[in-house]
Amino acid sequence: MKAGIGEIRKNNFFYTEKGSWVFLEAWLVDKEFEHISQSTAKACPASCSLCIKNCPTGSLSAPYTMNHLSCVSCLTTFQGWDWTSDKYQPQTGDWIFGCENCQDACPFNHNAWVEEEAYPGLDKLGEKISLEKLVEMDYDFLRDTIQPKFWYIPKDKVWKWKTNALNSMLNNYHPRYYPYIEKACNDQDEHVRRMAHWIISRLNNSSSD
Ligand code: SF4
Ligand code: SF4
Repeated sequence: MKAGIGEIRKNNFFYTEKGSWVFLEAWLVDKEFEHISQSTAKACPASCSLCIKNCPTGSLSAPYTMNHLSCVSCLTTFQGWDWTSDKYQPQTGDWIFGCENCQDACPFNHNAWVEEEAYPGLDKLGEKISLEKLVEMDYDFLRDTIQPKFWYIPKDKVWKWKTNALNSMLNNYHPRYYPYIEKACNDQDEHVRRMAHWIISRLNNSSSD
């Protein structure tokens, strides 16, 4: 922001004139530069709170603040290792990796996403990914193919893809998911087995109510 190339908005994201989906790159140089700060990005309108209203967990409870313990983006990636005891579990909806609600809701991001380059291997990867496929996915494939593209979930915790997919199944339950949840009760990873058993007991309890 001090370099004058953009603004940090109330949702905590850095924006240039092209919205918040930007990469920052840095160079180390061996020359002196004159500091010119001339941001042309407009500030957030005082009356706007769309990002806050669209945060599913209240993690973004006020401008320029965010509780990472309840942010869905953190909970589905490098935090939140146990959905069965997480109080925000019901509010995480169908997200299985990250959350973009506070950026999607922002008027400064409308029509800002420009697809200039093809994402390498996206079509092939897309065919392999669905909730059902993730729950059944081979661990080598998760580690070797999925993880390098989506590195917020570390390699030694790729089981989280499965617990996230199971979580999404629970939050948007359809009976077609049941056999996959049942099968996950025998997954090789204990986190996945525990999550699947927990969901089955939740479903059984709700059907007996
Ligand atoms: S990423 Fe999602 S959960 Fe996190 S602050 Fe933004 S809207 Fe809230
Ligand atoms: S949604 Fe509104 S308040 Fe939030 S960052 Fe965008 S312009 Fe600012």
